[in-house]
Amino acid sequence: MHGLASDGGLFLPEEIPSFPKSFWESLHSISFQEIGYQTAKLFIGDEISEPKLQEIIQRSINFPAPLVNLNDQMHVLELFHGPTLAFKDFGAQFMARTMEHFVKDDNRELVILVATSGDTGSAVAHGFYGVEGIKVFLLYPSGKVSAIQEKQLTTLDKNIVALEIHGTFDDCQHLVKSAFTDDDLKEKLNLSSANSINIARLIPQSFYYINAVKQLKSSGKEIIVSVPSGNLGNITAGLIAKHMGLPIAKFIAATNSNDVFTKYLSSGKFEPRKSVQTYSNAMDVGNPSNLERVRSLFGDDLEEMKSEIASFSFNDDETVSGIKEVYDKFGYVIDPHGSVGYHAMKKYLSLQNKKDYDAIVVETAHPAKFKGVVENTINREIEMPERLAECIKMKKHSIILDSKFETFKDFLLSTR
Ligand SMILES: *Cc1c(COP(=O)(O)O)cnc(C)c1O
Repeated sequence: MHGLASDGGLFLPEEIPSFPKSFWESLHSISFQEIGYQTAKLFIGDEISEPKLQEIIQRSINFPAPLVNLNDQMHVLELFHGPTLAFKDFGAQFMARTMEHFVKDDNRELVILVATSGDTGSAVAHGFYGVEGIKVFLLYPSGKVSAIQEKQLTTLDKNIVALEIHGTFDDCQHLVKSAFTDDDLKEKLNLSSANSINIARLIPQSFYYINAVKQLKSSGKEIIVSVPSGNLGNITAGLIAKHMGLPIAKFIAATNSNDVFTKYLSSGKFEPRKSVQTYSNAMDVGNPSNLERVRSLFGDDLEEMKSEIASFSFNDDETVSGIKEVYDKFGYVIDPHGSVGYHAMKKYLSLQNKKDYDAIVVETAHPAKFKGVVENTINREIEMPERLAECIKMKKHSIILDSKFETFKDFLLSTR
């Protein structure tokens, strides 16, 4: 429920549990939800009763994560079949159901504040949509999110309220941070955050790596996974699955021009920078928050880390060429994030001169979310998934506020 530890660090399990051998032997015959249940159980123990945990899994892992074969060796793991068409839905759904469980006996409503520059906010909002006892205020910068993103943020009702702030994303984040340190608000409202570093978002992300390996037809080949990375949360979840025993030989952290992690891995120097805008904007991160988790998983040993992770970075021109190449070669429409992942996979394979392998490129978002650049590149219209088309037709509801803290505070108090 705390998100951040009291010393400002991120939570990790003290120990990464491992599965018994029998789990791996029976993997091919168990469902995605059963994988989720067995994995979560190892972390959660009896903090949540078995039937309740089953229910949380049933209600959060309720869309597929299929592995699509481009050819015998190259596969795409599609993580965009959730309500907001990006992998963040897995984490957000599970976190929302888990928090719902822990607040159900509280008589005070839990008020969640989320500042968003787009995708995280809509995944969190959809996760908490209709959850009893929890209200969500989403703060987003007016005019600074894409039209599709804005619809995804502003067309939910019930317990989700979109606040359109006249300011920047940093202003939104500042308002949220100020609320958490305001004594008056803290006393009158039961405030919580649901930020992307919450451990309850990482655990469910490990499920789909295990489910991906299950879907590989050929067994025994070396498995390599390329993860389009920004804050490094998704790759951390993959590493956790590996440390539980999942046989993945190498992870590749694919970055765009925001290549702080790629540089760190090659030089050992961590030099956070201001982020720059790219086509794969969910990876525009200049100071990846989960790096400390990755370091911790390797006991802060860079050589150990390099033995399990490689990293390569690609710019926007290369992102476009990757979308084109995947389409021309395989007839598959990949989004800008997936394209960076594809390039990084190819680069790794060429350096290793590998002949026999199973390569999995993680596709983190649906290409329709990036309609403009994708359609211009492949010269073809792409299909809009129905849930996105529905959402775009709906009417926007937002409350417009200026970026002064007093305005925001008065507003929050008026909602009690
Ligand atoms: C958030 C996001 C990423 C980056 O994931 P991290 O866990 O921050 O590394 C990549 N692609 C998409 C579409 C995302 O939404």
